[in-house]
This record gives sequence, C-alpha cells and structure tokens, in this order.
Amino acid sequence: MRPIEPGRVYLVGAGPGDPELLTLRAAAVLTAADAVFHDQLVSDAVLSTTRRDAERVDVGHRAGSVRHEPAEVAGWMATRARRGQVVARLKGGDPFVFGRGGEEVQALAALGVPCEVVPGVTSALAAPAAAGIPVSHRGLSRSIVIASGHDRDPAGRPAWATPADATLVVLMGSARLAALAAELVEAGWEPDTPAAVVMAATTPRQRQVCGRLGEIAERAAGAGLGPPSVLIVGEVVSLAPLLAPVVAPGLAAGVAWAAASAAGMAE
Ligand code: SAH
Repeated sequence: MRPIEPGRVYLVGAGPGDPELLTLRAAAVLTAADAVFHDQLVSDAVLSTTRRDAERVDVGHRAGSVRHEPAEVAGWMATRARRGQVVARLKGGDPFVFGRGGEEVQALAALGVPCEVVPGVTSALAAPAAAGIPVSHRGLSRSIVIASGHDRDPAGRPAWATPADATLVVLMGSARLAALAAELVEAGWEPDTPAAVVMAATTPRQRQVCGRLGEIAERAAGAGLGPPSVLIVGEVVSLAPLLAPVVAPGLAAGVAWAAASAAGMAE
C-alpha cells in the first residue's frame, strides 16, 4: 500500500452508502486521517470507519443546495494540512461526479496544498446495479448519460439531448421528479419508456419503484420515496423484474416492487 502522507488532503469517494463499497485506498486514508471533512450524504456506516479521535467537520450539501463554498472548505482543510495533519475530504459516491470535487482541488492547488483524489463508486452506477438494472445491456442500451436534475438550459429544458438507445441516470432530481419527467417527455422521451427511482441505494433504507416515465413521479410519491434517489430512464429498466429478485433477494420491498412492476409492464 502506498504511504498516506501528512500535510496532504485526500479527496475520497465514500461510495453510495455501504461501507464495504469503499475502495482499499479510501479505507486506508480513513484509518489514518486526523481530520475528516464530510458531506451530508456520507453514511454513518462509512463515518464510523474513521478514527475515533479524528476531528469531524460536516460541510454538507443538502438536496443540492451548497452550504459552504469549495474555496471556504479548502481554506479550512489547508490550515489542518499545514499543521502536518492527514486530511480526508469525504464525498458521497465519486468526488468528481456532481460533487464539486474539481472545484475543491482547484482551490487547494491555488493554496499550494498537495492533494490526492481517491475515486469512489458513484451512486449513478451503484443505485441501478443494486436495484437489478444493468445500465448497459446488449440490444437495449449503447450509451449511458449521467445528468443533474437541476441543470437546465436558459429555456428551462433539461440540459441534455435525447439520446437514442441510451440509459439516462438523473441525480439530484427527487425534489422535482414530476416536473423532470414532464420535461423529459417534452424533450422527446416517450412517456412509456421504462423508468425507475431508487432511493438510498446500498443502505438498509434502500427502496425502489419502477414503471413508465409518464407515471414514475406519481409511483415514487405514492411509495413515499424521497432523497437521496436516482431516476433511471431507458429500456434496461425492463430487466429489473427479472434481475432484482436475484441481486437483491433480501430486500422485501425490492421483490414486491419487482412483482408489481412485472404486472405493470404487462399491462
Ligand atoms: N458524487 C455523488 C453524487 C453527488 S450529487 C456520487 O457519485 O454518487 C447527490 C445525488 O446523488 C443525490 O441527489 C442522489 O441523486 C444521488 N445519490 C447519492 N447517494 C445515493 C444513494 N445511496 N442512493 C440513491 N441516490 C444517491
């Protein structure tokens, strides 16, 4: 294992929630860190792998609204690093997937603080996987688009084109799921495209619903799903009733959902 160096900031991907999905490098950094700066999304299970005597600072984002600017956080971390501490900056999923990780690295570089990025398992891929949805599948999907539910062009349309034969994974969309689904239909997605919402993937709170794009917001609301969740749109979602009972047999809700959705798909 490469050494963990004092005076350095480690920008660590915490994965989607399950601590066993931390990389070996992430686990080593968390064991060594003197100070841990983390987001709201980082699970308690992951935080519990940090040193007991480590300083913990919550600088989280909540439902997409940023509470502290990257430069501000970088300043606090720089102070610790200059004291010779090992500093971990823990971000949910992968630090460079809608986590403003790039901005923090820029800010650290401007302050002359050495930094290492430890990639993580992004929820954009882990949430579909944990729900039995392969994001690519021969004959069903040839590309994967990961988008933000907040990001719209000046005309208010989703800031991504309509891709043919693609799987679309939308993060940060749960607060405006109905509007988002309507925007997608307006942008050219068929309302009967299979769609799923997966909440709190890889944690004990994981739940999911699936159906058609035109009705998915209603189904998610009916099932009481909220953040954090991802929306998955594309033909690959039709595999979920087949795969979910295999990959998530322990999830009662998952199995019930699969059975219900299989019936829904047959309609
Ligand atoms: N860097 C993170 C994403 C940050 S944006 C990553 O790579 O996963 C925050 C969004 O991630 C949330 O709004 C939600 O859409 C998604 N998310 C994070 N953890 C999740 C989980 N366990 N289950 C479902 N969605 C999750």
